[in-house]
Amino acid sequence: MDKYDIAIVGGGPAGSTAALYLYNLGFNVCLIEKKKFPRETLCGEFLSREVIDTLKNFNLFEGFLKLNPNPITKFKFYNDNNSFIETKLKFPAYGIKRGIFDNFLLDAVKEKGITVFQPFEVKEITRGKEFITLIVDNGQSSQEIFCDKIIAAYGKQNILDKKLNRDFTNHKSFLNGVKFHVDESLFNVLDKNAIQIFAANGIYCGINSVGGNKTTVCFLENRQMTQNNPKDQIKTLTEGNKNFKKLFGENIISIITDLPIYGTGNIFLGKRELVKNGIYFIGDSSAVIAPLAGDGIGMAMQSAKLISKIFEKQKTDELDDRQTEQYYIQEWKKLFKRRIFIAKSIQNIIMNNYYRKIGYSIIKIFPGLLENIISATRG
Ligand SMILES: Cc1cc2nc3c(=O)[nH]c(=O)nc-3n(C[C@H](O)[C@H](O)[C@H](O)COP(=O)(O)OP(=O)(O)OC[C@H]3O[C@@H](n4cnc5c(N)ncnc54)[C@H](O)[C@@H]3O)c2cc1C
Repeated sequence: MDKYDIAIVGGGPAGSTAALYLYNLGFNVCLIEKKKFPRETLCGEFLSREVIDTLKNFNLFEGFLKLNPNPITKFKFYNDNNSFIETKLKFPAYGIKRGIFDNFLLDAVKEKGITVFQPFEVKEITRGKEFITLIVDNGQSSQEIFCDKIIAAYGKQNILDKKLNRDFTNHKSFLNGVKFHVDESLFNVLDKNAIQIFAANGIYCGINSVGGNKTTVCFLENRQMTQNNPKDQIKTLTEGNKNFKKLFGENIISIITDLPIYGTGNIFLGKRELVKNGIYFIGDSSAVIAPLAGDGIGMAMQSAKLISKIFEKQKTDELDDRQTEQYYIQEWKKLFKRRIFIAKSIQNIIMNNYYRKIGYSIIKIFPGLLENIISATRG
């Protein structure tokens, strides 16, 4: 029987990065990804410092640059009327389509010779006395995979959460995210080297170019405050934010009508169990940071690094499972709890007309604050 030390569920940034770290530490790992790549996914597609550092760590940065990501050097926040605030980013950042980026990372995993089951979906996880069994399925047949440990890197929501009886699964967040790729030629005005945020009541939108003459338009809305349909959400933003309207003129609805939409409903930004039934959660499976921070991919990669260090420590210090779990939870909180809290608080301010106007006026008077706020959501 082939048995792996560790099976990783999910081949997004968290899963692929964990596979690379664990492989380098000498663990026998496999990764299971349910979709064929390249595949698109909901994301603002803004990559910041932690991502670049991780790529450099694996000598992948040169290869990444060959994918022609779009460099991003400044942050702009557009008020409802005709003004905006701007700051230079103090760290390297890029825009790139997630379809291209995630494929690039997973290819790096395959090139190492790490076993990747794809497209295979993990359907069941059962824990025996000696080892754990995963049932995986590719739509035509099922098979079993055996391992000692499991890392769940399957993203923000999944049928497995219900099966594992995770405590947030019945929570209603009313937060809905949507992404489009819009051709740059369709913009009236576009600052290609900026990440631009536009807000109106109950909604905010991030815009940045991602190379290949495409720009990502990605927004988060509170369904209790705006409408459900992506077109209606865009209308809310066009009516509520004059700067956003200027980007496309009156054409925006016709522009988005035929574009593929990538979306997710009911995005839960609260606390989740970090370990359950001996399964270690990383990336979005462990917690989702408010998208405003543009930091989820960086955090996914950092949590992958953390779990690898923890498993290495378990081996060298001969920690038992309970000690290892406690140690992971403690270190995870040290790394992420504060920035998740800050990002969520800022998001709440931005999505509320009244608080946003007050916040905007304060930053107009003290522009240095903007830089501090951006740094506070980073690792
Ligand atoms: C509106 C919005 C905008 C965002 N914008 C940004 C941004 O600009 N920059 C940024 O850094 N972050 C952003 N994020 C966050 C970012 O998208 C996530 O943090 C990141 O994708 C997390 O990576 P992950 O690997 O944990 O999960 P994912 O990227 O979701 O990957 C999970 C993988 O697991 C696979 N999978 C799922 N279930 C199974 C299964 N049962 N078996 C096998 N495989 C499975 C999926 O197919 C998928 O490939 C945004 C989030 C939202 C909601």
